[in-house]
Amino acid sequence: MKTLKDKIVQEGKVLSDIVLKVDSFLNHQIDPQLMKEIGEEFAARFKNAGITKILTIESSGIAPAVMTGLILDVPVVFARKRKSVTLSDDLYTASVYSYTKKETNDIAVSIDYIDSDDTVLIIDDFLANGQALLGLLNIVKQAGASTAGAGIVIEKGFQPGGDLIRENGTRVESLAIVSSLKHGKVDFLEEAVE
Ligand code: 5GP
Repeated sequence: MKTLKDKIVQEGKVLSDIVLKVDSFLNHQIDPQLMKEIGEEFAARFKNAGITKILTIESSGIAPAVMTGLILDVPVVFARKRKSVTLSDDLYTASVYSYTKKETNDIAVSIDYIDSDDTVLIIDDFLANGQALLGLLNIVKQAGASTAGAGIVIEKGFQPGGDLIRENGTRVESLAIVSSLKHGKVDFLEEAVE
């Protein structure tokens, strides 16, 4: 998605060979116009997938997820992050290890908000090692629902998450795939179709 890639080049800050900071439009301040375009793009890519619900994770997945939900006209659920969640009959839970933050969070979704007859589209801001996405996929599985795929705003293609999840058989649609952050520069994987 060209507007997203341009924004990353203009405003993204390369913090190291593996970490990209995009606080000016996604992770702290939010650019609503860009989020709207992102929502339109995800909605277009998944329009024939029979989506009934969108699932994301707080907090940075919420903005692109809501825009997508608005266009597909389906509810948006966000998994809540906690240091630890006590097992409960009312919640689906999963443990998510963040290599970036070097900490484990439990994520939880109320059983009230995903049903076994839902077809779920998962949305998240970044895909790196894939742990957050695996946790969300696990929650959809616990609910007995099906997953149509995952929409990712920025995938870091040089980290293993994308391959891991695709090899699992899950459709992953990333709007920008970063191939390298070396030498303080953002390079993108060129997609065949824009
Ligand atoms: P994963 O579980 O795929 O390793 O990482 C997913 C989560 O880590 C994302 O939802 C995001 O919050 C965070 N993350 C991973 N890499 C980056 C990065 O380079 N920049 C930012 N801003 N967040 C990242």
